[in-house]
Amino acid sequence: MTEHKQPEKGTISIHTENIFPIIKKWLYSEKEIFLRELVSNAVDAITKLQHVNLVEGLRLSEDYVVDITLDKDAGTLTIKDNGIGMTADEIRKYINQVAFSSAEEFVQKFKGLEDKNQIIGHFGLGFYSSFMVADKVEIRSLSYEKDAVGAHWTCEGSTSYELEEIDKKDRGTEVILHLEADEKVYLDAVKVREVVKRYCNFLPVTIKLAGEQVNDSKPLWNQAASETTEEQYKEFYAKLYPMADEPLFWIHLNVDFPFNLKGILYFPRLTTEFDVAKSHIKLFCNQVFVSDNCPELIPEFLTPLQGCLDAPDLPLNVSRSYLQNEPQVRKIREVITSRVAGKICELARQDRQAFSKIWEDIHTFVKYGMLRDDKFYDKVKEQIIFRTTDDCQYTTLDEYLLRAAAKHDKKVYYANDEAAQATYIKLFKSQGLEVLLLDALIDSHFIQFLEMKNSDIKFERVDSDITENLLEEKRKIELAGPDEQKLQTQQAKELFEGALKAGGLSIRVESLKDDKVSGMILLAEQTRRFKEMTRMMGKDGDMPDMFAEHTLMVNLKSPVVQNILKLQDAKRDEDATMLAEQVYDLAMLSQRSFDKERMEAFLERSNKILEKLGGMG
Ligand code: ADP
Repeated sequence: MTEHKQPEKGTISIHTENIFPIIKKWLYSEKEIFLRELVSNAVDAITKLQHVNLVEGLRLSEDYVVDITLDKDAGTLTIKDNGIGMTADEIRKYINQVAFSSAEEFVQKFKGLEDKNQIIGHFGLGFYSSFMVADKVEIRSLSYEKDAVGAHWTCEGSTSYELEEIDKKDRGTEVILHLEADEKVYLDAVKVREVVKRYCNFLPVTIKLAGEQVNDSKPLWNQAASETTEEQYKEFYAKLYPMADEPLFWIHLNVDFPFNLKGILYFPRLTTEFDVAKSHIKLFCNQVFVSDNCPELIPEFLTPLQGCLDAPDLPLNVSRSYLQNEPQVRKIREVITSRVAGKICELARQDRQAFSKIWEDIHTFVKYGMLRDDKFYDKVKEQIIFRTTDDCQYTTLDEYLLRAAAKHDKKVYYANDEAAQATYIKLFKSQGLEVLLLDALIDSHFIQFLEMKNSDIKFERVDSDITENLLEEKRKIELAGPDEQKLQTQQAKELFEGALKAGGLSIRVESLKDDKVSGMILLAEQTRRFKEMTRMMGKDGDMPDMFAEHTLMVNLKSPVVQNILKLQDAKRDEDATMLAEQVYDLAMLSQRSFDKERMEAFLERSNKILEKLGGMG
């Protein structure tokens, strides 16, 4: 046995108050991060040794391991590594001096600091976070250097320490935490495992707890995208989010200029419980988990993205204010936005059928992104698709306009409520006119936005007007007898105006190609949009009535309308009025529901009509 010198006793020199009470108070709610700090130090020590070996050309075929052991009887948690180790001098330098040289500054800053999280990494005090849970900490270390002597450091949470030589045969460091009475939870393997998994799951060195490996030392984001299979991406996702459905698509990032950024981002299948207010990305710094709530890292419209980002250039202890003001974070956002845009274009070009399947999940975010970010808009504008009544089911705007060019140039007909506008859609379809279905909440803004971006294109809801294409051709009407036509039009207009007393109603008589429609409600596009806007912005009290002004289009071609005119000719004015009211109510009902009074009147009248019909038989 070597002859040991007397243990060295010393005082950690700080001129201000004792640092330990501050450490104990600091981050009270997140004490568990001491494990992250100590395990990261152990992993660093191993990485350093691997580096030295590499430089010196040594080929040590050794298993590098960080071993965590819990001793319930002794009340200790030990983190042991076979890394580079420390000599007594290095302990003096790195543990005693370095930590405390900035202590004064630390104490000053601490007082005014709002985000206590900033402290740890910033002051290089990671090791001292052990005193948040331990009242005594020991370091036993043997440096890799030739002829090194083991060193043993002990500190009981005051400014004095003890440092002595010891016999230690195995290279590396053991940090032994004598846990405080209140912190015995860290003797529980389940708890320790959970914390280690949370913070250290992807550290590049094997981490064992009670002899079993806890972590996955080769996270998928470090693997080249070209060598990664679809199965591997899905498996990795399932590991990160065990309860989630398969993701819709993913992006593998591997940027090394002008900054380092790796990661895999997933677009999840969205469910109603999805919490869109929170970012779901796990941020790592050199494989050490940092946080899973960094909304600053991704643009707001991509909040649903999940997965991992490893940004080694960001500090391990990032704070909110840091992320908000850091130019690099803006660049990260830009890279992500651009990659997402690229992915969307790739998917759209590859397979329209497959793309349209995920479109319903992503379109709101894509549209929102286009509204918010011009660069994103420019990248994806030609690829976005719309559901359409045409057989192709989904179409780009350009394709639609091309098909429509001969019939209605630069005009887009759309519906935003398939059920309420069913009659109109059917009418359009029967005349070979294609209608886009824009029924998401965001679509009214999006339509407005598209018109602003493409000033020559106009969007018109199917019920906003009667298009030329739906009307009987003028010439044909003229041949059939223009005078009679004119006369009937006039008669129908007067009849309906006389019969219907609703406020804000105007009557328009047309001859549609389709004779199955007797009447239709028209709401002028711009007026309606304006009201929709007011409704979206206004409070419940001042809801504008969408039907305050509306037009009833009466179809002269319809046998029903022809019958009404005949009834009037036969001086059966009461019946004519009743049927005119019925035509109006039916047209209205397809758009909205009635209040109690109007419903009662409608039912009563319907019954009367049925009675009369029965009487005829
Ligand atoms: P930081 O890790 O931010 O530098 P720490 O207080 O955690 O601050 O550690 C201070 C220094 O002590 C480290 O930089 C390293 O040189 C040394 N050290 C800590 N833990 C170990 C270890 N397990 N093996 C070797 N050196 C270590």
